[in-house]
Amino acid sequence: MVVFWLLIGFAFAAFVVRVPARWLGIAALAIWLAVLGVHLSMPGGAVARAIGGSFAGWLVGGAVLGLVLGYRLLLRGLSRRAGGGQASDPVAVPEAVPVVGGDRSATMSDDELDRYARHIVLREIGGPGQMRLRGANVLLVGAGGLGAPLALYLAAAGVGRITLADDDSISLSNLQRQVLFRSDQTGQPKAQAGAAAMGALNPHVTVTPLMRRVAASDAALVAGHDLVLDGTDSFAARAAVNAACVEAGVPLLAGAIAQWEGQATLYDPARGGPCMACIFPVAPAAGLAPSCAEAGVVGALPGVIGSVMALEAIKHLTGAGQGLRGRMLIFDGLYGETRTIGLTARADCPVCGGRGA
Ligand SMILES: [Zn+2]
Repeated sequence: MVVFWLLIGFAFAAFVVRVPARWLGIAALAIWLAVLGVHLSMPGGAVARAIGGSFAGWLVGGAVLGLVLGYRLLLRGLSRRAGGGQASDPVAVPEAVPVVGGDRSATMSDDELDRYARHIVLREIGGPGQMRLRGANVLLVGAGGLGAPLALYLAAAGVGRITLADDDSISLSNLQRQVLFRSDQTGQPKAQAGAAAMGALNPHVTVTPLMRRVAASDAALVAGHDLVLDGTDSFAARAAVNAACVEAGVPLLAGAIAQWEGQATLYDPARGGPCMACIFPVAPAAGLAPSCAEAGVVGALPGVIGSVMALEAIKHLTGAGQGLRGRMLIFDGLYGETRTIGLTARADCPVCGGRGA
């Protein structure tokens, strides 16, 4: 009986610290073989009595358990093969249907353990942090300059479910900085082409293309997500995403770029700090904040700010380090300078009502 309770304790501990199923199986097989060996070589001995049971009993019990586990593995293999067959044609997928079906099993596969090995060895992320990324559901608004590195790094990092919203299609002038797309994709919808590229990079994540903008009235859409990332390029679009996030109580990682300078911050009034409207209450006067199309933007800048946003998203979702809630990181690419300023909520904010003050 001693061995039986040891096995139960061992299995429970392995479940708590998320030992991969393969190691668990090998360990259980080794213990079973050792028990059989003791019963066979010293039947009725002190060790055999301490273990309990008989050679025949352990043999039959192990064989039955092996058959059950083998049958389960066979079923899982068959369902995986069936699921893989559905993800072959991303172009034909209608709006809001996942292009690539991620693996929703409870533990990471050997492929995932290998893929995320550099995350798993980081003390601040580790296996539990990677599982949090795997279970996360984020909404990425805008598949442009900021959206391109965000989409690639979030998919590569193994963020389990990503919705990519954009109503635009790829043009030649995008390709100077939007590294998510290729020259032969001009004219294609950005949401679908981006989702297909993310699925090709990491088949373990589920990407849902949404070929429309996110409006201020989209709180219900936003509410289903753990985090929203805004890479849109106009004040009106950013204000709409902010309003939807405030109403849904979902944190918003926002970035903006123009010419040589960019900024990134986390708006999360539900948990402290300002919303976007606390900092930018009114739209800038026409001509004061020209778009990238009017004022220009250096090609690698969205890569810098988009990557900062992806890094902050990984930190936020895993709980690593200190995020940008109530702080704004400002990067001046022309002079190679970075600074961080503090942000506070406005008690009279018309959008969040200063609830984060
Ligand atoms: Zn506010």
